[in-house]
Amino acid sequence: AAKERPGRTARYGVEMETGGNLAPSLIGELRGALDRGEIVLHYQPQVEVRTGRVLGVEALARWQHPEHGLLGPDSFIAAAERTGIIGPLTQYVLDRALAQCAIWRRAGLPLTVAVNLSVRNLLDPGLVDDVRAALSRHGLEANVLELEITEGTAMVDPRRSLQVLGTLADMGVLLSIDDYGTGHSSLAYLQRLPVRRLKIDRSFVTGLVDDEPSAAIVRSTIELARHLGLDVVAEGVEDDVTLLRLHAMACFAVQGFGLGRPVPPLLLPDLVDQIEAR
Ligand code: C2E
Ligand code: CA
Ligand code: CA
Ligand code: CA
Repeated sequence: AAKERPGRTARYGVEMETGGNLAPSLIGELRGALDRGEIVLHYQPQVEVRTGRVLGVEALARWQHPEHGLLGPDSFIAAAERTGIIGPLTQYVLDRALAQCAIWRRAGLPLTVAVNLSVRNLLDPGLVDDVRAALSRHGLEANVLELEITEGTAMVDPRRSLQVLGTLADMGVLLSIDDYGTGHSSLAYLQRLPVRRLKIDRSFVTGLVDDEPSAAIVRSTIELARHLGLDVVAEGVEDDVTLLRLHAMACFAVQGFGLGRPVPPLLLPDLVDQIEAR
């Protein structure tokens, strides 16, 4: 049975349930939730450190459940992966995120959009065609799309991953390693993948100011990445001191509650203005 945990009140006043596992009945509802449009996307800005400009956003899935309120991805993504619903879910997220991206771009907001991929997505022989179709459906160039994969995702079937990622990269899609530092892959291995960004996991960024080992990991990752021609994005930046340190380390971009929380699409343009006015 699902454990009850207290919801967290986001700044825009929506209760969101995080953590825990879905009750079996909810897992059964997940497929229907997709069809009923109950899966919604919130968007979190990615900010270039040097210029303070918002370069793009990461699309993060939520389930607007009719009875349970807004459920965070930690309560349904794992279940979606186990049950295979992650295929249609990712297709849906890709389509909605690119539709939104096209709306912003037509309105003069030239953002890129990042979508998270699971292992199953990368092993799905239809992925490349799905990505191509979604881009063309919304009249977008491939370089507006960023796909985030974790180190572990690419390691499940390295040969196949290398092939799929190579095709996506050749199309012009921007590929990133998510949660960098939490897996067991070496930079030497990652460097063979056609990725252009490393997103340093929040756990290292959180300790940046008070914990010297974390600071050393972040500093040396940025340095090594530079030698390999990769841009580093720091996740989980919650305060200005951390942001200043990352600036001093010449980190490429940041994402975090301290700059902007994930918000529904309607609130994103104002958030971009706020961030760029800082
Ligand atoms: P992630 O890809 O590492 O996404 C970043 C997570 O960190 C988001 O949580 C975001 O709200 C949170 N975050 C951002 N800045 C801060 C900060 O300053 N402090 C703290 N404490 N947290 C911060 P969220 O939205 O709950 O997503 C959790 C995870 O669920 C994501 O981690 C990603 O792995 C997965 N996920 C979300 N949407 C999708 C999706 O559409 N497809 C797949 N496959 N996975 C998704
Ligand atoms: Ca991510
Ligand atoms: Ca991450
Ligand atoms: Ca994560």
